[in-house]
Amino acid sequence: MTWLGWESLGGTLTSDPAVASWASGRLDVFARGTDNALWHKWYQNGWSGWESLGGLLTSGPAVAAWSAGRLDVFVRGTDNALWHKWYQNGWSGWESLGGLLTSGPAVAAWSAGRLDVFVRGTDNALWHKWYQNGWSGWESLGGVLTSDPAAVSWASGRLDVFARGTDNALWHKWYQNGWSGWESLGGVLTSSPDVSSWASGRLDVFVRGNDNAMWHKWYQNGWSGWESLGGVLTSGPAATSWGPDRIDTFVCGTDNALWHKWWARVPTVRVHTKVLTTPNVAVGTVLQRMREVYGTVGVHVQHASTENLNLPALNDLDVGECVRGRTTAEQNQLYANRNNAGPNDVVVYFVRTTDPPFNGCAAHPDGRPGAVVAQGATQWTFGHEVGHVLGLNHVNDNNRLMTGNGTANITNPPPDLIAAERDTMVASPFTQDL
Ligand SMILES: [Zn+2]
Repeated sequence: MTWLGWESLGGTLTSDPAVASWASGRLDVFARGTDNALWHKWYQNGWSGWESLGGLLTSGPAVAAWSAGRLDVFVRGTDNALWHKWYQNGWSGWESLGGLLTSGPAVAAWSAGRLDVFVRGTDNALWHKWYQNGWSGWESLGGVLTSDPAAVSWASGRLDVFARGTDNALWHKWYQNGWSGWESLGGVLTSSPDVSSWASGRLDVFVRGNDNAMWHKWYQNGWSGWESLGGVLTSGPAATSWGPDRIDTFVCGTDNALWHKWWARVPTVRVHTKVLTTPNVAVGTVLQRMREVYGTVGVHVQHASTENLNLPALNDLDVGECVRGRTTAEQNQLYANRNNAGPNDVVVYFVRTTDPPFNGCAAHPDGRPGAVVAQGATQWTFGHEVGHVLGLNHVNDNNRLMTGNGTANITNPPPDLIAAERDTMVASPFTQDL
C-alpha cells in the first residue's frame, strides 16, 4: 500500500471536511462554504461540482455512510439542536433530533438497519442516540471530554468511538454487548480524532499532531505506532471508510481549500536484472516496454537492482523443453544467483542463447521466481516471460502480449493484456502490495 499525493478539490471552505464512505465506487464529501451553508461534492469517475444542501448551520457537517442507496448527513442548526437530512432519490428535508448540544455531531454508518449518532451534551459528556425503526433516547457514555466525538462504523457487532480526554490524549471506547471502558491511545494531540471504518479487521484513526501535521495510527491485532502523512494543515483530518483497496483522507489546507490524499494498494512486480550477455534491445528499453503494457492493467513494475554475472558455462543455457515446474541442472545453477532479491521478487537473466533456441524461457525452480531472455529477443519478450512467471499462459492472438506465436509477430504495439489476465497477475505471490 502506498500513500498518493494531495489533490485539491477547489473551493474556499469555512468548515472542516467530513466524508462518507465509498459505495459502489462513489465517495461523498461535505463541507461548509463561505455562505455558511452545507455543500456537497462527490466523486464518481471524477469530482462533481459542489451542490448546496441549503440551510444556515452552526456546526461542521458530519455524515454517515451509504447504506442501501441512502446517505445521512447530520449538522447543528442555528437553534443549536442536531438536525438530520438524508438522500434517497433526492434530499429530504431537515429533521430535528431534539436536545441542546455543545459539539458538532459525529455519526457511525448504518449497519443492519441501525444508525448511530454521537454528540457532546451540555454536561460536556458524550451522548449517544441511535435509529432503528425510530430514534432512541439519548444515552450517556460517561466521562468528561475535551473534543468532539468521532465514531466508526459497525463491524461484526462492534462500534468504536474516539474522543480527546481532559489530558489531551486520544481515548477510545467500544461497544460490543455493552460499552467498554475508555482506553488511551497515547500521544498529545492538537485535533479531534477522526476515524475510518473497520475493514478486514483493520481500523484507522487520523489526528493532527502537535507539529500541526497529520498523523495516522491503525489497529490490527494491537495498535501500530503513529505515522506522519506530512503537510501542515489547518483542519482536523477526516477519513472515509476503506473501499476496495483504498482509504481516503480529507483535510483543510493552509489555503483554506479542501485537500485529499488517498492510500491505495498498488500491485507491483519487483524485478531484478542479471546480465550474462548484453541483449540487442537494451535492458532499459525492454523494461520501458514492459511498463507500458503492464501499466494498462494497473500493475506497476519496479526495477529493484541490476548486476553483471560472469558465468560463461551458463551463457548458452540448457532449458530442456522449457516447461513450467521442470528445470535442468543449468537452470537450477543460474537461478541460484539471487543477490539483492527478496523471496517474491522476480529475477530475469540475460543470456546469449538458450538450448534449444528460444527468445526466452520462464521455467524456474520452486522458490526462485525468474526467467531468462536471450540476446536476440524482441522488445516484448521480457514482459512476456515475466507474464508467464505471474501465471499467464499462451493465447493464439497476435494482438496480445501472451501470444504463443512469438512476440516478433505482435501486430498492434503495445500488445494487450485482458482483465482476466490482470486478475491472475494481481493474485500471483510475485505481485506485491507496495
Ligand atoms: Zn511464452
